[in-house]
Amino acid sequence: MATAKDAAARRRLVESLRVVPGGPADLAGHDPRADHGWSKKAAEEATADQLDRLTELQDRLWAEEKRAVLVVLQGIDAAGKDGTIRRVMTAFNPQGCRVSGFRVPTPDELAHDYLWRVHRRVPGKGEIGIFNRSHYEDVLVVRVKQLVPRAVWSKRYRQIRDFERLLADTGTSIVKFFLHISRDEQRQRFQERYDDPRKRWKFSLGDLEERARWDDYMRAYEDALSKTSTADAPWYVIPADRNWFRNLAVASILADTIDDLAPAYPAAPDLPADLLIE
Ligand code: AMP
Ligand code: MG
Repeated sequence: MATAKDAAARRRLVESLRVVPGGPADLAGHDPRADHGWSKKAAEEATADQLDRLTELQDRLWAEEKRAVLVVLQGIDAAGKDGTIRRVMTAFNPQGCRVSGFRVPTPDELAHDYLWRVHRRVPGKGEIGIFNRSHYEDVLVVRVKQLVPRAVWSKRYRQIRDFERLLADTGTSIVKFFLHISRDEQRQRFQERYDDPRKRWKFSLGDLEERARWDDYMRAYEDALSKTSTADAPWYVIPADRNWFRNLAVASILADTIDDLAPAYPAAPDLPADLLIE
């Protein structure tokens, strides 16, 4: 079980990773290898506690059926989006939880505004929706590779803030994670993918072209996080070079976010107090 000292350390951690609304994200000032004083063993134990907490909170959220939670996962290739989903989302009952991945838009998607495909995947009341990539690609890859002119993508930060406010105003809590890995960690993970026959399918030469644009991506991420971290939909910069620390941070923040909603089991007012089923 977690000690009180762990609980306080965990709360400080959550606070320190949040991008203060209106403030700069300053990625260079965040060490991707940071462990905030946690050992691997303590972090793994605390993560298990947080996952138990998440299981209980999701059960309440689902039973209550009044609010929704949207989790946005972003990060450069090999940042650990899939691994985070595999580890942290095991806390959830698949009923009531849906993962949506966003890839290169289809012609049908491209024929619509960029939020169209996203809006239809947002969670309904009682659900937790997880976005593996998201509408943020439209100010990240789209900006870096100049898929649309600056005049188009530069308006999107405001559009995204408005969209997320709409969701927040109508009962959806939003929490956004940027999985922050170092350039050298990406190199190692790519090499591992390439070397391992069970992982090679995840790797393509195109990934190296993206890697060559590392600085452009960091600038685009920094801008996106700075311009769209709001009280309703905060961004968190997750040090992600170490998977065990990443898991602890994401699980803690997610649990705190849902806890703040205080989801409650519905009352059953019509039932007698001492019913015995025969
Ligand atoms: P993966 O996450 O490895 O399945 O790759 C999905 C790919 O789709 C990534 O290279 C993303 O950058 C790309 N992608 C996602 N959304 C968009 C978008 N709106 N426009 C262009 N490319 C995108
Ligand atoms: Mg990929």
